[in-house]
Amino acid sequence: MEIRVLGCHGAQLPGYNTTSFLLDDKILIDAGTVTSILTIEEQIEIDNILVTHSHLDHVKDIAFLADNLLRQKQSPVDIISTQGIIDILRSNLFNSVVWPDFSVIPDEHNPVIRFRPIEPGRQYALNGIIITAVMVNHVVETVGYVVDFGTGSVIFIGDTGPTEDIWKIANARNDVKAIFIETSFPNDMIDVAEAAGHFTPASLNEELTKLSLESPDIYLYHLKPQYYDVIKREVGLIKRNNIRILNEGEFIHI
Ligand SMILES: [Zn+2]
Ligand SMILES: [Zn+2]
Repeated sequence: MEIRVLGCHGAQLPGYNTTSFLLDDKILIDAGTVTSILTIEEQIEIDNILVTHSHLDHVKDIAFLADNLLRQKQSPVDIISTQGIIDILRSNLFNSVVWPDFSVIPDEHNPVIRFRPIEPGRQYALNGIIITAVMVNHVVETVGYVVDFGTGSVIFIGDTGPTEDIWKIANARNDVKAIFIETSFPNDMIDVAEAAGHFTPASLNEELTKLSLESPDIYLYHLKPQYYDVIKREVGLIKRNNIRILNEGEFIHI
């Protein structure tokens, strides 16, 4: 599986894009940054968007992608998430006020996007992979995703503070190749991180004691770019193998 990092930060500054990962050219995990990176031909290739939660730094480019794909792509793009998260997107973003409701444009039988609710904990087959959503702990309803690609699995944990279920699921599998997890704020902003449902390098280090697997690569993302250098230095203090901060634009092959 190829994972292309379209954006891996928790805020937007020149050179720092908000979160989006492209899996094998077809599936997005979040859509914080898509249309400013991918060509229109690459955008047309996208079939599914797995949404972790409704915050703008994870969903804003669904809006611009939908606009770009009108009359360009033959089949709808499936927006996949829990019913609760989909309801938030429908009523607050694609509500014909903030942005057109592209799930009925150009018409409801052949729309640009299609909302596909899934139940946490259930497995769904999608373009040759199996996905499972798992509830995590953020200030709004948020899920992580276990992506099973046949010869291994990758876990995208999403925005979260301390959480439990996803570690139990990770520990019960013997095929986890990589874990993508957030680290948003520097250690001296632990009060903000806790209030907003995020990690600092120190609280992440504590959280990682819940992981009993030795081998997976751990990729850190969602750093707030204005604190990038401090967070990077503090991540360097984590005594663990196979852990590093993701880079904008990189390709990871698993
Ligand atoms: Zn975020
Ligand atoms: Zn968030």
